[in-house]
Amino acid sequence: MSNHTSDPAMQLKELKPTMDFFVGLDSDGCVFDSMEIKHKECFCPNFINTFNLQAVSKYAREAWDFVNLYSKSRGCNRFLAIIRALDLLRERPEVQARNVAVPRLDGIRSWLKRESKLGNPALRKELELAGDADLALAYEWSIAVNESIAKMVRNVPPFPLVRESLLALEGKADVIVVSQTPFEALKREWGEHDIDKHIRLIAGQEMGTKAEHIAFAAKGKYSKGKVLMVGDAPGDLDAARKNDALFYPINPGHEEASWKRFLDESLGHFFAGTYAGEYEQSLAAEFDRYLPELPPWKV
Ligand SMILES: [Mg+2]
Repeated sequence: MSNHTSDPAMQLKELKPTMDFFVGLDSDGCVFDSMEIKHKECFCPNFINTFNLQAVSKYAREAWDFVNLYSKSRGCNRFLAIIRALDLLRERPEVQARNVAVPRLDGIRSWLKRESKLGNPALRKELELAGDADLALAYEWSIAVNESIAKMVRNVPPFPLVRESLLALEGKADVIVVSQTPFEALKREWGEHDIDKHIRLIAGQEMGTKAEHIAFAAKGKYSKGKVLMVGDAPGDLDAARKNDALFYPINPGHEEASWKRFLDESLGHFFAGTYAGEYEQSLAAEFDRYLPELPPWKV
């Protein structure tokens, strides 16, 4: 796949249906049990180092983990996560007591307001135009994170029953990856475990938001009730809702049971047209209870 076309999302927009059904799969924390290792060993150490949070590293780690793993913003784009984590950190009395200046990074804030393709290619372009110091820091961090992940994350297989689920979708649904992870990591991870053969395309952060991925790939191409997003975070649910698509939750901490139910029960409802309504609502209500809105230190 090339990212050098003028429109990075061209391949998504040009995707033609070959089946009646469409399924978008999130990757980290949904297909792969990769959230803990990526955030704790790769994202967070680089977050502390790049943004000079050494003096409050304990609180920086709590903020990072809360934003990215244990709250409703789990799985959000990495650049949004920087701002959320820093804002949480700045408010903490322990941080203020230590007189640590937590950066505001207004350059990143304003970039986030005008860009949806929140990945390194768009950031590099912006950096060449504006030369903003905050954006330079974000870029340096993002590259360091990718290097850490490439070095650290291997032998992390798909959750049990993911392969069986992909096989059950074969011949019935067009399946794509809908993720906010960089394309190069997704390609490596899906390839490493030989499950890339089951999907038509990998959409990463360079191709836009998850809502945009679903819109580009599926909007107006499939009948109502035949588009499903599978994910482990409220952001995945939002992306589905924005496109009037169905949503199947992989519940954080209960991934195996979620995939088992998907294979044994939910997929049947999806193909039979009985997924929308009461069944989907009960799944969403259950999912909503797994992740909190507020951090434990504010409750
Ligand atoms: Mg996820």
